[in-house]
Amino acid sequence: MREYEVIIIGQGPAGLSAAIYTARANIKTLILGCDPKIAGDYAIDNYFGFHETISGKELIERGVAQASKFGAEILCDRVLSIHFDDSGKYIVKTERDEYKTCSVILATGVSRKKPDIPDYEKFDGKGISWCVSCDGFFFKDKSVLVAGEGNYAANQAIELTDYTSNVAICTLGKESTISADYRKRLKDLNIPVIEKSISKLIGDDVLKGVRFSDGEELKVDGIFIALGDASSTDFAKSLGIITEGNFIVVDKDMKTNAPGIFAAGDCTGGFLQIAVAVGAGAIAARSAISYVKESCRK
Ligand SMILES: Cc1cc2nc3c(=O)[nH]c(=O)nc-3n(C[C@H](O)[C@H](O)[C@H](O)COP(=O)(O)OP(=O)(O)OC[C@H]3O[C@@H](n4cnc5c(N)ncnc54)[C@H](O)[C@@H]3O)c2cc1C
Repeated sequence: MREYEVIIIGQGPAGLSAAIYTARANIKTLILGCDPKIAGDYAIDNYFGFHETISGKELIERGVAQASKFGAEILCDRVLSIHFDDSGKYIVKTERDEYKTCSVILATGVSRKKPDIPDYEKFDGKGISWCVSCDGFFFKDKSVLVAGEGNYAANQAIELTDYTSNVAICTLGKESTISADYRKRLKDLNIPVIEKSISKLIGDDVLKGVRFSDGEELKVDGIFIALGDASSTDFAKSLGIITEGNFIVVDKDMKTNAPGIFAAGDCTGGFLQIAVAVGAGAIAARSAISYVKESCRK
């Protein structure tokens, strides 16, 4: 397994800015993430130093070139989970590989995911969960659905088989984007993928089942939400990192409450702008550099 001193999750302004600092300080750096939304055809008029409008695409390309110039490795890959292992390091699992690292900078941007399930808030914590490694145990031998359409949902469903063999995925009416490799693993584990939307949650105080849009009902004890890609708050939940709503709580040095885990940019809330994300990335990098030198190079 390849090992890095810092893994930065996110290839947006916060992640790239952090990588410029860590790589330049000779910290072995890997960025995992693909083009951020801003790398589309958006005009940026308010970023310092560009008196002529620059496109988001060009700004990100410049950041990628600069971080690479200092030795940061950049891979377009999606992170599915982060776990602390026995050696005191973090294992970062992606769609394609697994990496070991001493520290992590979370820079995955803002997470605005809400499941398209009527009245899901009523059962939040009473059947609806957002974190398999936190709550999977409570569903031992029970019937569970994972709500999501992609490889993140597939990975969560596979993790749930540690607790129960009665697992299915529901894409909430979306077309599945699960890769062929994951589809095969789901098939081997008897995990069906249901491409229907949910029109009603059944139960009084606790979740008892779901009604799909075609009227069919299914008895389920739990639904794990795993929409789209895993976000920083999903990682935070499984690592015991404090969050406020959809945002990660950090101190003035961009440290989270977990040792060696830092966060920067939109995923920490506040003024959601490029200039702020770039500044926060620099601060997170400075903290990660100190952490690596003090705690990882013994
Ligand atoms: C349409 C639009 C226009 C905007 N215009 C402006 C503007 O003119 N000026 C301005 O200052 N700000 C603007 N903003 C806001 C600005 O884009 C953000 O504040 C900024 O991009 C935040 O940077 P970030 O690095 O925190 O997150 P992002 O830029 O959102 O980057 C997040 C990164 O995380 C990656 N990621 C997410 N999940 C995973 C995962 N599971 N595994 C691996 N990687 C993952 C993504 O692929 C991406 O690379 C605009 C935003 C939008 C959407």
